[in-house]
Amino acid sequence: MTKSKFSDRTCSFCGRHIPEDQFLIAGLSGLICGDCARTVNDILHNTEKDERLKAVESLKINLLKPHEIKARLDDYVIGQDEAKKVLSVAVYNHYKRIMQEKDSEQDDVEIEKSNILLIGETGTGKTLLARTIAKLLEVPFCIADATVFTQAGYVGEDVESILTRLLQAADYDVAKAERGIVFIDEIDKIARKGSENPSITRDVSGEGVQQSLLKLLEGSVVNVPPQGGRKHPEQEFIHINTQHILFIGSGAFNNLDQIISERMNTNAIGYNKKNRNIDKDNMLQYVSAQDIKQFGLIPELCGRFPVITSLNPLDAVALKQILTRPKNALVKQYVKLFQMDGITLSFEEEALDYIVEKAVELKLGARGLRAIVEKIMTDAMYDFPSLDKNKITVTREYARENFEKSIFSFLDK
Ligand code: ADP
Repeated sequence: MTKSKFSDRTCSFCGRHIPEDQFLIAGLSGLICGDCARTVNDILHNTEKDERLKAVESLKINLLKPHEIKARLDDYVIGQDEAKKVLSVAVYNHYKRIMQEKDSEQDDVEIEKSNILLIGETGTGKTLLARTIAKLLEVPFCIADATVFTQAGYVGEDVESILTRLLQAADYDVAKAERGIVFIDEIDKIARKGSENPSITRDVSGEGVQQSLLKLLEGSVVNVPPQGGRKHPEQEFIHINTQHILFIGSGAFNNLDQIISERMNTNAIGYNKKNRNIDKDNMLQYVSAQDIKQFGLIPELCGRFPVITSLNPLDAVALKQILTRPKNALVKQYVKLFQMDGITLSFEEEALDYIVEKAVELKLGARGLRAIVEKIMTDAMYDFPSLDKNKITVTREYARENFEKSIFSFLDK
């Protein structure tokens, strides 16, 4: 200690006289010696650790093994086997990593976080996969649309509002929110444009949002406005540590297949011979971080998504299965609705084929199925509860008539 207002070198905590050559810190109204400072530090460290462990132990994560996760996903999501497998492993490892915290003192091996990037056309099941996983694990889940965010200081939503939503999904239980899953949709839309020649058409705002997202993804303590909206200096913030939040990015990444084709063409020497087995109709399955970078995500953001997987476009066979197979399949939902009025509803195979044909025509993947079935069933749902009938069979003709009628009435408006 150098010059001080205290006349003798007595530690205010332990009362010992501390010799000149030993450590002593002066505060406003007392002194603390090196031994006491170390003891305080240990107490603080252990208390924080205890609180962290308590939070981990109180976690009610329904940790299923990868095979179990995949099997449960199969109940709700048709096809997409590769994506399901990759997701099951990534999610399992992610939550094992959280559990490992308990033993982290004895073990120096730290398992790094693996956020996941899902790539595939719209309506192929990306959101459904993420939502279903969150439900299986019983962790909070929220969806954020990357296109609504702006970089700090611009008009629009701050990226921190993503965490407000997660917090709301966790009923404002911070520890629970800190183990949740955040689904960031349309992440491809914040790619910088003209990435091959950034100096010409640099899209600064997209890049700015990517930079803001980085902060969330890399695992830091973020100040979150509890009610959302823009950050306001007078608002009280909730501190959320994003270290254990699993981020799943998702997007269609239009034209990414061309980037992948070019890379595989140029990188592979003797392409024609070696790569004869390449499935040129589904290039997305060969996606790598390099392609995503080329597409326009900044390298740091790509680095935060170590797991990348693609979803296949859904063909007519898959669409038909989606109508009838999943636990909460559309057809099952309508059957139940009618059942509640004592009416037995059934669809002929040809009617299902018609619905699928229209969905393919609309190019909305499985997303179009619900709208089409809704249009076909509207009249029946309106009339049948008042009629004295207890059976309805949807034929192809009935489906076509009602669908076309609804399209025409829509066009007439
Ligand atoms: P994406 O996120 O890929 O755009 P969604 O997961 O939101 O698509 O899918 C839209 C809807 O289509 C889902 O709610 C679900 O009803 C249906 N769907 C899409 N893909 C599948 C699939 N592979 N299996 C079952 N249903 C699916």
